[in-house]
Amino acid sequence: MTKEKIWINGKVKNQEEDKIYCLSAFHYGTVAFDGILCIQDKKRKNNCFLFRLSDHLNRIFYSAKVLGLKIPYSKDEFANAIIDLVKSNGYASYYIRPLVFSNNFYTNILPKSKEEFVNVVILHKKFNFWKFSIRMKRGLKLIISKKIRNTWIEELTLAKISGKYLNYFLTLHEAKNKGFDEAIILDDEEKVSEASTSNIFIVKGNAIKTPPPKNILPGITRATVIEIAKNMNYDVKEERFSIEELFNADEIFLTNTARGIVSVFQVGDSNKFNKSEVASLIRDRYISIIRGEDSTFSHWSTPISI
Ligand code: PMP
Repeated sequence: MTKEKIWINGKVKNQEEDKIYCLSAFHYGTVAFDGILCIQDKKRKNNCFLFRLSDHLNRIFYSAKVLGLKIPYSKDEFANAIIDLVKSNGYASYYIRPLVFSNNFYTNILPKSKEEFVNVVILHKKFNFWKFSIRMKRGLKLIISKKIRNTWIEELTLAKISGKYLNYFLTLHEAKNKGFDEAIILDDEEKVSEASTSNIFIVKGNAIKTPPPKNILPGITRATVIEIAKNMNYDVKEERFSIEELFNADEIFLTNTARGIVSVFQVGDSNKFNKSEVASLIRDRYISIIRGEDSTFSHWSTPISI
């Protein structure tokens, strides 16, 4: 099997072909990154759609800026690089992971000079979203993390930076070690903030709540679900909520790029969550949107013909 190609600093290459320095970024968790969905067209197999590309690019440019890294490409050039990479492999559903980090070779925390070279690497993995999300349809089992809290550092809130993932890594470990899928992370006032790799929503009647963009990574899927739910006339609020409110919800669901929208059926010992009506309706709409089939939200799709 041939390995997927990789986009490094301006060219599509074979994975073995180039070497880059990542030691400083590796030491200090200073990689700006993102995760983008590319979905194959159901009808025209030589066509696919990148989902909310410009929003993902805005986020990675912001994350790089927080780290003081100047990406040596414009957003259009970056977008074209992603499109070229997808085209280079000729088949069509991917999870795409752009990474931006300093070329700093050794152990300096900060680059030696502002002119230091900034690496841009784009990985992509063939990804069967449908198979993955069907597996997820059984719903998730969550625990509430006892150890880790999300604290608010304003400029990090919107950023997707590797160092920030230590919290998420530890909570995920905690959950998996106890036989759960993910952990719910609380904020420093014991309100629900997000899950180890996802944003969280609760449903009560016609009302849908998700924590505001403070103490969370405000996901692109979260923003998408908010828009879809408003369009479907749900009463959507970005508001903090307590553990008590979580347990009183009719439905709980999580969102992220890799799995889309997934219902939760258990939190800790409580497996009373057996409803997923609202999540399923939103999920159906989400699926037609990422397939480029929904004209209301077609501006979110970037079509690529191979
Ligand atoms: N929160 C965390 C901690 C995440 O890792 C992710 C995945 N990137 C999300 C939320 C959801 O973000 P998105 O919808 O952009 O994938």
